[in-house]
Parts: sequence; C-alpha cells; structure tokens
Amino acid sequence: MLSSLRHWSRSAFARLPSLLPSACALCGAADGSGSNLCGACHRHFYAMKTPRCRCCATTVLTPAGMDQVCGECLRQPPSFDATVAACDYSAPHDRVVLGLKFGGLLEYAPVMADVVRNAMIGHDDMALPALLAPVPLGNSRLAERGFNQALEIARPLSRLLGIPLQAQLLQRQRDTRSQSLLHPDERQKNVRSAFTVPAPNIDLIRGRHVGIVDDVMTTGATLNEVAATLKRFGASRVTNFVFARTSQH
Ligand SMILES: [Zn+2]
Ligand SMILES: [Zn+2]
Repeated sequence: MLSSLRHWSRSAFARLPSLLPSACALCGAADGSGSNLCGACHRHFYAMKTPRCRCCATTVLTPAGMDQVCGECLRQPPSFDATVAACDYSAPHDRVVLGLKFGGLLEYAPVMADVVRNAMIGHDDMALPALLAPVPLGNSRLAERGFNQALEIARPLSRLLGIPLQAQLLQRQRDTRSQSLLHPDERQKNVRSAFTVPAPNIDLIRGRHVGIVDDVMTTGATLNEVAATLKRFGASRVTNFVFARTSQH
C-alpha cells in the first residue's frame, strides 16, 4: 500500500503548481510573501482554533478556549503531558503531509512549523520545553527516504520558539514496521522498547521538560513510547508538537 501511495503522491505532486518556489502548498497561488502557504489559506485553514484535549490533542466537543482533557486520557493517562496540533489529518492538510514525507517537498516543513507555532500560541498557559527533539526514524527508513520529516519540521520550529534542538536526542534501537500498516491495537506492541536515550544525552533530559516533534499523530502509540522512554531516563515533562492529528483516538 505504501509503495502505491508513494507512487500516487509523487505523480500527483509532479502535476501540482506547488513545485514552483513559494507557491502555496494548498491552493498553488503565489502571494509574494515567499511562504509556501498563502495568507488566504493560512487564515482559512489554520487561524481557527479547534477545541482539543490538552493532553492528546484529539478534538473535543467544547467551546473554543476551554482547555480540557478527553475521557480517554482521563481513563488511561498517556506518558506525555501535553500535545499541540495545528490541524486535523484530513483534506487539505494531508496534502502537505504527503508532499513532505513522500513527495520530498522539504520546503513544506517551515510552513508546518509555522502553523504549529501558531497553535502553540493559542495555549496561553502552556509551559515551553527546555529542548526540542524529533521522533527518530529507523536507519533503514532514513536511508530509504533520505531525510527525517520530523527533524525537518523540528529545525524551523526550534528557531521560531527559541528552543534549542537536539536532533539526535533519541535513537531507534530497532526498525519497526510502519505504524500506518498496523491495526491500532498492534501499534503499541510494535513500538515497545523501540527507543533509547544514548548515555551522553541523559544529562540533557534529567529533570527537564522535553518537546517532541512529529508530522502526524494517529493513535499516539509512537509518541507515548517516546515519552515513556524520556521519563524512564528522568525527563520531568513531555509535550508533543505535531502538525496534524487524526480524529481516531
Ligand atoms: Zn493558498
Ligand atoms: Zn486526550
């Protein structure tokens, strides 16, 4: 399925006007701002604040501005403490995700970082982490793709938030199967013990608030395992920063 998706996305993106430098990733217009997201799409798709669980960022049915925790997080609190998400993983945002991950359109990453930063600003009382790190890719997937999309987003986000980036904070101990190919029940098992913190980095996280960056959060199994790993090594708090959140818990 993935290879057909990749094939689809490469051919689809090859036809898009967004291959032009600084054309909008969503509508193809160039508004002269030099950004890959035009002002109109920014206002239309990312200015509106969707009420989300402050822990896992799933959408909740409460008026905007009310900060609350969803029933699932209350029943079974995850290892992370908070999640910031810029949008739902649905059209047209999925186009940006697929363009970066499978189309190799690295110029989308600063756009994604920018809207994540905007979403962060919407949380008045949210504490800023002391450092940021991407969810690491396994070696074989990194070799195949040539870049880690989470790191591509984390770099500009680090600059925008003024938080230092530790690109190699975490390591994957083994290559895991792609989460998107697995049933939700199998995902936690698939990533169990997948991550570690190399010894020289342990002092960086002990007693500190760590921010973890990824492109998409689906069940949260990967981010939960990352947070559990960080806390096992002494992190005091973990906040996730993701571009898109699926509505499925
Ligand atoms: Zn646009
Ligand atoms: Zn939640």
